[in-house]
Amino acid sequence: MSDRPPTNVMRRVWIAQCLCPARHAIAATAGEAASEAEAVGAVERPLRIEVEAMLRAGTIDPWCDICRAPRALWAFELGRTKFTTMAEARPALERSADEQALTRAVLGGSQGRA
Ligand SMILES: [Zn+2]
Repeated sequence: MSDRPPTNVMRRVWIAQCLCPARHAIAATAGEAASEAEAVGAVERPLRIEVEAMLRAGTIDPWCDICRAPRALWAFELGRTKFTTMAEARPALERSADEQALTRAVLGGSQGRA
């Protein structure tokens, strides 16, 4: 990415996902952060809290809807996207019909890179 002026702090859109062992997305959220440490607090932590709240409220089942993996096996994963702002990322996020597609759309370009 050389089409942007350099900045001291490189803010990026980060995506946090709650995944079963087969990588089916239980829940996902996105937000801007300048570092992985910031993203853990700003994006991953709220998702963990939200998943707990949804489980308590019965909004989601304590197993994967697709493969039935129980919640004890779920993992949280944090990924940096190529987008710098939520405004930039939103069209890609909204185009995605489900969170699997969202993940591919947003993270697809970065996972294969060294
Ligand atoms: Zn699953």
